[in-house]
Formats: sequence, C-alpha cells, structure tokens
Amino acid sequence: MDSFFESFTGMSTFIPMIGENLFGMTLTELRDIVAEAGMEAYRANQIFTWLYDKHVTDFNEMTNLSKAQRDILAARYSLYVPVIVSERVSTDGTRKFLLALEDKLEIEAVYIPSERESAGEPKRHTICVSTQVGCPLDCVFCATASMKLKRNLTTGEILGQWLALQRYASRRITNLVFMGMGEPLLNLDNVLRAVEILTHEMTTGIGSRHLTISTAGLPREIRRLADSGVNVKLAVSLHSLDDAVRSRLMPINRKHNLADLLPSLEYYYRKTRKRITFEYILFEGLNDSERDAVRLAKLTRRIPGKVNIIPFHQIDHVSKTLRAMDFAPSAPDRAEAFISRLRKDNVTVMVRNSSGVDIDAACGQLAINSSRRHVHNHSIVA
Ligand code: SF4
Repeated sequence: MDSFFESFTGMSTFIPMIGENLFGMTLTELRDIVAEAGMEAYRANQIFTWLYDKHVTDFNEMTNLSKAQRDILAARYSLYVPVIVSERVSTDGTRKFLLALEDKLEIEAVYIPSERESAGEPKRHTICVSTQVGCPLDCVFCATASMKLKRNLTTGEILGQWLALQRYASRRITNLVFMGMGEPLLNLDNVLRAVEILTHEMTTGIGSRHLTISTAGLPREIRRLADSGVNVKLAVSLHSLDDAVRSRLMPINRKHNLADLLPSLEYYYRKTRKRITFEYILFEGLNDSERDAVRLAKLTRRIPGKVNIIPFHQIDHVSKTLRAMDFAPSAPDRAEAFISRLRKDNVTVMVRNSSGVDIDAACGQLAINSSRRHVHNHSIVA
C-alpha cells in the first residue's frame, strides 16, 4: 500500500454552518461579496486564494485580511467542507471514502492510484467524485440507482470532496473524474462552477486536460457542455448500439435514444476536438457479439473516440433483488474476441481493471446501503 494518504484518524476539519457556504463561490461571486461588505476589490483575490490554493477552512487563517474583515465574513458566511467519516482500503491501493454532508446525508468519493511506474509509485493520483446524492437514472448495472435521487450536491460539496481528500493526501491529486454517485449533467450548473474553480490559474486545482465528466447520455446537456468552453474530457456510458438493448440497460435511452444521443456527441467533438470515451460493459450474450463490435468500431470512425471496456461488477452488496442479478459478465474468451475485433479495426481500446472491487469501490458499485451504512456508482476511469 502506498503512503498517498496518512492513516485515517477519524478527524476532519468541520466548521458548522453559520450562513451561506463561502466554499464553492467563484471569483466573480467573491468580488460581489467583498463589495457588499465594503472591502477593497483585491480582497476577493485574496479570499479566492485562501480557499482554493491554500485550502484553509477557518476565517482566522486568512491572515492578510484584517481581524475586522475576518469577523464580517465569519458573521455572514460559513466554510463547510464534507467530513470524511470512514475509509476502506483495497489491496490494490484504491481507497473509498464515506463523506457526511451538512444535512447528514452521505456520499462517496474514491481515490485510484493509476499508471504505476517501475519504481512502484503511481504516476497519476485520480479521484472520482459524486455530483448527486443518489441518482434518478436507474441504470440496471449500477448500485447508486437503488438509492434514487435525494438531491443535487452544491458546488461547495462537489469541490469539497477534492479538498477533503487533498488535505488528507501527502501528494497532489492529479486527475479528477466526475463519475461517482449521480449523473453530472443533471447538476450541470454546479459541475461547471466546480470546473471553473478547479481550472482557474489562481488555484492549486486540476487542469481541464485532467478532468473527465461522465454521462449516461443527455443530449441537450452535452451540447450545453460543449458550448460552455470548459474543454474537459467527456465519457459516455454507451454499452450498446442497439436501442432495445440499451433501453434495457439504461432506461434513459427510452427518452433519449441513440438517434438523439449520437448527434450530440458529434457536436461535442466538433466543438472541443476532444475524443469521446465510450464506456462499454460487456454482458454475456447481450452486447458482446462480433456484430456489436463491428458497430462500435464504425461509431468510432463517425465520432472520434476510444473504447473503455469495463468489467461488470456484481452489486448484490446493495440488494439481492436488483435487476442486475439477471445479467452476467461476458466469459473471458468472448470478451477477448470482442476486444480483438475492435483492435483489428484500429479502435483504441482500454481494458479497465477492477480497481477497488474488494471494497465495493469499482465501476457501478457506489451506493449508500442504509442498513450497513456503507457506501458502496457510474464508471471509474483510472
Ligand atoms: S450509472 Fe451513473 S447515471 Fe446510471 S444510475 Fe448509476 S450513477 Fe446514475
């Protein structure tokens, strides 16, 4: 196990809410706040730096502000970051964190060490963050779906997962994927604000090249994301190019079928020039035939992208009655034949491993199991 994180002590900084959370405010919003408080305009830059570069969670630590200014802020605002309440560590170094929100709801974030270098140290330190408490989209292979949607996360709660894990880590987090609990594009305003802050030159955040947003496929929001100019990577949970099969796996396909979804992906590529990642879980006898592989290869010629083959992980830790129990992962020889067929057609194929499967932190496994109060989501790209 690497020492990216110190041993969990159960202690985390928690400042109770007094007013609106300052954490999650953009620089533009901070400018309005300091103007309203009668402070000089440059104070907004100082506060922005304290929050997202120096990562302070106490107004008293903002030492270049006068005591009177700190008191004004403390009287009007809070500095709230989700609290790490527990952690599970996988034998492969993946760590799953259960975080409590101010209203006692809980979410999960996952740390995945990836691209291990020969010396043994991972080159990339990726975190997977949640964007909603639960999810309304009901994909059959996903444990989060069992929670239904409780609510969207605020910008501060999305960014707070990064801050909580970064404060706890001994080295810089290099990559962030919006692939935890929830459908990020259903909470697009807050996701875009989080991206704006993370990629701002005055923060120790993460560059847009190292950010990935995953979606089950919401065409209007994909176009909006393309038009926003944030230029992050986009991953789409595809899983089939047959509407009947895809609708079985992902009910959202009944509302937005492939004829609706694919043009929005073409639009995203044209606007951003970023190759799309097509996430594909192989299910035995359902979407793993040669014909399926040929169709997928054809798609990557129409919309430039790569294919991530993701193992199907059982999610019976959430409920034995889940519909996912009706599906089985493709047998190794069938999966191998599918991947070979794609590669024969010069498709870039990444075969994902099952990081964190032993702690229910792998693709599709995140969900708060209320009876066990353990978190166990989407697709994790390490
Ligand atoms: S896979 Fe993603 S969009 Fe589908 S239910 Fe799970 S969290 Fe929601």
